Amino acid sequence: MGVVEGDTLSQTPTYDACIIGSGAAGGVVAKELCEGGAKVIMLEAGREVPPGKFLSHKWPYELPYRGLRGEKQAPFYQGGVSTSIRYEDCDSVSVDRIRVLGGRTVHWNAVVLRYAQRDFKGWSADGIEEDWPLTYDELEPYYERIEQMIGVCGQDDGLEIVPAGKHYLPPLPWRCSEHILHRATNGMGIPLISVRKAVLTTVYDSRPPCHYCGHCMSGCDVGALFNSAVAMLPKAQRTGNFTLRQNALAREILVDREGLARGVSFVDTQAKREQEVKARVVVVCCATVESARLLLNSRSPRHPNGLANSNGVVGR
Ligand SMILES: Cc1cc2nc3c(=O)[nH]c(=O)nc-3n(C[C@H](O)[C@H](O)[C@H](O)COP(=O)(O)OP(=O)(O)OC[C@H]3O[C@@H](n4cnc5c(N)ncnc54)[C@H](O)[C@@H]3O)c2cc1C
Ligand code: SF4
Repeated sequence: MGVVEGDTLSQTPTYDACIIGSGAAGGVVAKELCEGGAKVIMLEAGREVPPGKFLSHKWPYELPYRGLRGEKQAPFYQGGVSTSIRYEDCDSVSVDRIRVLGGRTVHWNAVVLRYAQRDFKGWSADGIEEDWPLTYDELEPYYERIEQMIGVCGQDDGLEIVPAGKHYLPPLPWRCSEHILHRATNGMGIPLISVRKAVLTTVYDSRPPCHYCGHCMSGCDVGALFNSAVAMLPKAQRTGNFTLRQNALAREILVDREGLARGVSFVDTQAKREQEVKARVVVVCCATVESARLLLNSRSPRHPNGLANSNGVVGR
């Protein structure tokens, strides 16, 4: 996709929103805000790997480790991100550390089941965890909207434990093994249902359908699998309201004297220079680990323990 490289600090305007991270969350928020008329800048620590460069369809003999050891996904973990940061007591953080335009949607498996009514009531129903402060019914319209936005295949199986939407694309056809399995589960009274995936089974939203190659988790080269970089960011860009900075690693969220976010300090990892961007709203979409790290790194007199961390539980 086209890339708008940013201005120097002195020329930088104040954006309505600065979104940090271009994954599932960042991509959807960018599209929505830009289509709503907001001027948005997105900071993405990684850079684009165009679908034509995915290694999904490489033959084993074309790769040193025959496609094992995460070789096919390696282009999505840029700048030594998997090895450059160490944690005090845990080094097993892996896919949460992705660094690429599109985030983990470039190689996710795209299974998108809704939570059921009872999942929101864990404490009342089963005495575990906490009840959510909202209900399934409150979330339902948003499930419906996002499913239509990203394109989800499946069907309503009439099961309370997996509530269904109203706008699915046709379900993925079963393979021989699933028909065989069905014979067994049928006899046991266990329902076997088609998966609900953000995979297109027909042409949808100008994207082609799945060709059943089975390489989703190495990257879908045709965009049948929902990928934020392919399905969301071009829409944001078409509004004329979107500025994308790739290789832009957010280092700290800057706040004003009242402690409210006013912008972001980031490192241009190519030029090896620190820069600032000004924005009325900062949207943190760097996924679990990196979002927590960014908040903890954003210390100021108003927020000595990091941003949004007055209770000290960020990152725990
Ligand atoms: C192999 C695999 C299979 C999966 N299967 C499923 C599945 O079947 N169903 C399901 O629901 N989920 C699945 N997931 C998980 C799903 O992909 C993630 O939950 C989802 O993409 C998270 O979205 P996000 O926007 O929060 O973060 P991400 O998609 O991880 O995006 C975070 C973005 O932030 C960027 N970033 C990080 N730090 C900074 C920084 N300091 N400055 C600027 N940018 C930064 C990263 O480069 C990245 O682009 C899977 C993931 C993987 C890897
Ligand atoms: S074409 Fe279908 S099976 Fe192949 S990677 Fe894309 S979504 Fe997955």
